[in-house]
Amino acid sequence: MPSRTRTTGPSRSLIELMNAYGKYFETEFKSHFASLPEELNESRDAVLSVPMKYSDLVKYDPIAESFENVLSSIEVANTVLNDRSRELNPVEYRLRPRLVDLPESRQRTLESLRMRDRGKFFSFECMVSDVQIVMGYIKTAAYHCKDCGVDVKVPQKIARQRKKPRFCKSCFDIAIEKDGTPPPIPPGWLELDVEECEYEDIQYLKLTNWVPRPEKPAPDPITHINAVMDDELVSTLKEGQFVKVNAIVEIDHLPGRDYVKDTRRVLVLRILSVEEIQGLEYSTREEMAEKFRMLEAEDEDDY
Ligand SMILES: [Zn+2]
Repeated sequence: MPSRTRTTGPSRSLIELMNAYGKYFETEFKSHFASLPEELNESRDAVLSVPMKYSDLVKYDPIAESFENVLSSIEVANTVLNDRSRELNPVEYRLRPRLVDLPESRQRTLESLRMRDRGKFFSFECMVSDVQIVMGYIKTAAYHCKDCGVDVKVPQKIARQRKKPRFCKSCFDIAIEKDGTPPPIPPGWLELDVEECEYEDIQYLKLTNWVPRPEKPAPDPITHINAVMDDELVSTLKEGQFVKVNAIVEIDHLPGRDYVKDTRRVLVLRILSVEEIQGLEYSTREEMAEKFRMLEAEDEDDY
């Protein structure tokens, strides 16, 4: 009979990635950690953005490779960063690593995006043309088994069907132990525990492919795309601002539909970080945003 192997703890590739992030934070952020308590007192905020420069990160193998799945790579960075900083500063706060300063090869325009870009991450210069209300989503759903009492946590995605285990693994193991065979019907009654779920703030925005540059006064065609940002980035942007957004291209269903009802899809940008565009004075920004609205209104009149 083949022996059943059970893996415990993280895989080797995950350990390598965690070590690489550990080395990166130790080298690049050691002095920064020491000044954190003051920064937190000043900001009066329990969540602080920690910018991670792309060009620095890729020096630490295998971080560049892990960008094949950039969201889960940043999640690893998040765990490592918060563990390290807690060792150095026993203060109640949370750090949020933000990938910034993408190379030129990752710069794209909003109008160039297509379905084939799904899952890739790029940097876009754009204008914030609409900001919606702040809301939240279940980042990690908590389930409780009414039969054996075990608690199960399941990570979730924004605007997707909530994931739930098909049965209770703990009840299954108990049945195997007791009877030596799997139970005939899926064991365990898992119930969503609303209070124990982990929630995160999110905010939807509309981005437009326009930044006032002397060589390109107005975009052709004007393109808008929806984007979503989370956590401490929420409420940091306003209409008419020109920014560089670093984001993953994701797909979403049409408003008022869902993935079952309809096969049509739209692109949505999952924002990883936002950077100021240097060289645009604020008064100019407002004037330029106003000018853009006029241009857009003229465009609509043409139809
Ligand atoms: Zn159970």
